[in-house]
Amino acid sequence: MKFGGTSVGKPERMHQVKDLITRDNQKKIVVLSALSGTTNALVGIGEALADADKELAKKRIDLLHAHYLIFYKDLLKSDSARKKAEKIIAEHFEFLNIILKISFNEAINRDILAQGELLSTKLFYTLLQELDIPAVFLPALDFMSIDENHEPELKKISEKVKSILKNYPEESIFVTQGYICKNHRNEVDNLKRGGSDYSASLIGAAINAEVVEIWTDIDGMHNNDPRIVDQTRPIAQLSFDEAAELAYFGAKILHPASIWPAQQYNIPVKLLNTMEPDAIGTTITAKEQGTGVKALAAKDGITAIKIKSSRMLLAYGFLRKVFEVFEKYKTSIDMITTSEVAVSVTIDDLSHLKEIIRELEAYGSVEVDQNQTIISIVGNLIAESKGSVAQIMNCLTDYPVRMVSYGGSRHNVSLLVDAQYKNAALQSLNSGLFEW
Ligand code: ADP
Ligand code: ASP
Ligand code: MG
Repeated sequence: MKFGGTSVGKPERMHQVKDLITRDNQKKIVVLSALSGTTNALVGIGEALADADKELAKKRIDLLHAHYLIFYKDLLKSDSARKKAEKIIAEHFEFLNIILKISFNEAINRDILAQGELLSTKLFYTLLQELDIPAVFLPALDFMSIDENHEPELKKISEKVKSILKNYPEESIFVTQGYICKNHRNEVDNLKRGGSDYSASLIGAAINAEVVEIWTDIDGMHNNDPRIVDQTRPIAQLSFDEAAELAYFGAKILHPASIWPAQQYNIPVKLLNTMEPDAIGTTITAKEQGTGVKALAAKDGITAIKIKSSRMLLAYGFLRKVFEVFEKYKTSIDMITTSEVAVSVTIDDLSHLKEIIRELEAYGSVEVDQNQTIISIVGNLIAESKGSVAQIMNCLTDYPVRMVSYGGSRHNVSLLVDAQYKNAALQSLNSGLFEW
């Protein structure tokens, strides 16, 4: 059971989480995010330190500290529990204050980012102790790890978790941190923003859980981004492939990589609402149900690169050469389209853009468009159902579409538009594709 930032962001919500994990006696691992706002605040502290602005970093640390000093008093009632919480908070903020005095680097930044999940789980565990609810505190840094390519080491994670769990045959509640892990240098690292979902799915796969429950602040995966589009509705059932596409292409409710571990072990994933625990939410399984368009998602911060070469494109081996450039810089490609004279690809990681362009120029002229958005239309059998592409395109007559990717999978049609058209395009697709 994974609970996100808003689900633990207020003392009363943490109490609700306590109610939800004690509704039955089944054995469960409870994965918590940081309190909402905390990771953003920690990112801000790291940014101030990276700019060598210690004064601003200190201000931000104090502001966050003040938040926790109010939080724990509303969370806990007894003197002994409050004393424990005071100690936990003091320890973590002392750590942040010590960092102010030493020289800053990326490894320290990741240590800073880890404080949120450490604080939330320790405070929650203190609440369970105060209420005499038996539970085991399971430090994620003891078992969660990534390799030199930042990929989770599922086999190792599984061996470690299982061997730790063996020590507690009678216990049924285990509390651990989402998001944080160790890397191949044994430093503290993380699974990128929103990574607690990924932690939950990895842990579910590691122990071959019956179900992975992602508890959040909305009643399941909606058919469109509810932050942008007025009328959206929850989807009761999705296949792993559909959910993975939606997550990968921007549905913020799930971390982009959070489906594959559960899918690999065929473990159902449920998206549930902490604020409305009896709403049906979304169940994600291997089963494919329904036809036609099910949902849309949008991924921002996309850059399109076009390589034009009348001489070389049709020559065999050309695409390999182009792709090798991206491989060399460990930059993954999201969308590809080709014509006789050009190939366009999109990327979202711009760390090596300059080097990539320089090397691609050996094969043809290169054009780059930044600030693009991929809109993904996801459903079952889209590529085989008649008229669905025409229907999609009809919704977009007012907006220039830069790329279209269709037929790559049965579950996805992707379009690239300039970011300025994203909201209007999502709204228009919503009205045109779904019956209300
Ligand atoms: P948590 O802190 O629980 O991980 P997130 O904020 O990461 O929660 O994810 C939940 C949010 O994702 C929702 O509140 C909603 O605004 C946003 N969201 C974006 N796209 C979708 C979608 N297709 N369905 C549901 N929620 C979505
Ligand atoms: N706390 C982390 C974040 O805000 C991880 C998560 O919430 O899933 O990104
Ligand atoms: Mg999240």
